[in-house]
Amino acid sequence: MPLFLVLLAFTACRIAPPTAALQRFEFTEPHMGTLFNITLFAPDAATAERAAKLAFARITKLDRVMTDYDDASELMRLCAQPYGTPVRVSDDLFDILQTSRRFSEMTGGAFDITVGPCVQLWRRARRQRQLPAPEKITTALAAVGWRKVQLDAHHKTVTLLAPEMRLDLGGIAKGYAADKALAVLKKNGISRALVAASGDIAIGEPPPGQPGWRIGIGSIDAAGNSLTKTVLLHNAAVSTSGDTEQFVELGGVRYSHIINPLTGRALTNRIGVTVIAKTATTTDGLETPLSVLGVERGMQLVEAHPELAVLFVTLEGNRKTMLASSRFRKISTSD
Ligand code: AMP
Ligand code: MG
Repeated sequence: MPLFLVLLAFTACRIAPPTAALQRFEFTEPHMGTLFNITLFAPDAATAERAAKLAFARITKLDRVMTDYDDASELMRLCAQPYGTPVRVSDDLFDILQTSRRFSEMTGGAFDITVGPCVQLWRRARRQRQLPAPEKITTALAAVGWRKVQLDAHHKTVTLLAPEMRLDLGGIAKGYAADKALAVLKKNGISRALVAASGDIAIGEPPPGQPGWRIGIGSIDAAGNSLTKTVLLHNAAVSTSGDTEQFVELGGVRYSHIINPLTGRALTNRIGVTVIAKTATTTDGLETPLSVLGVERGMQLVEAHPELAVLFVTLEGNRKTMLASSRFRKISTSD
């Protein structure tokens, strides 16, 4: 079920006079295969541009570390080392690998950055419009499993424990980069800001005189685009995923870009997930496995963590069902 997020303009009256002389600025640049948008409030254009430039530079740096589309990225160089060798990595890479491991543990392995070999098979399937051969999936699965990544926090080393492993940070990197970009803005004196990487948004202090940033959660179905819920957020993050543009339909079945790491197969259930939490690393990292876990197990997981909120949208035939966690119900309004 394709979902999308939009930043909504305020129509409600202001609750306080605007902070003196802050103006709104917006910047957009392509990074990590998508568009990053920065919306911020600053006293003047020069201050805004300087801060945005530094934030985008941080994203560029992270992309160079984490992309799997470039053999020269730090991540791909790590994967190219003979398995069983401890490799010293940068703080950024170690940090995201450690966080990824936490999400793997938390989701019982539904989030797993070692799915890379399977992701490759399914990317090829999309291009060639042909399902991967089952034996290729079996072979790929030998290099999958989050426990096959050994982390040594003291030496900042990573050891890949099986041959042909390929790490894929596509399920978490955009949220991580959005968080880091927001932190750069804050460090440069700009706290009323928001960084959006398509479906992953890191949100700082509210716009001047407003209680928060209004984000609309929309779903696209046969009836066209429609907004389903609105949330008002500050110092938080929201991510949404679904089988958006990246799917392939073969033999009447729609295969998502999200893989079940246990089976090596792409998801075929129509599910859209929107997660709200403190950081975009968390929301991006969790919306991917929540799709794998499905509504029932996903909801159990979220309800066990009071800081998380989730909205599931599922589509069976033409029947759309929405299910919100208790915290989501408290913080959202219907449109
Ligand atoms: P997202 O758009 O955040 O849901 O992330 C989807 C991307 O994460 C895919 O394109 C893959 O690169 C990667 N991915 C797919 N399945 C998984 C999974 N189960 N765990 C972690 N990453 C995944
Ligand atoms: Mg994700």
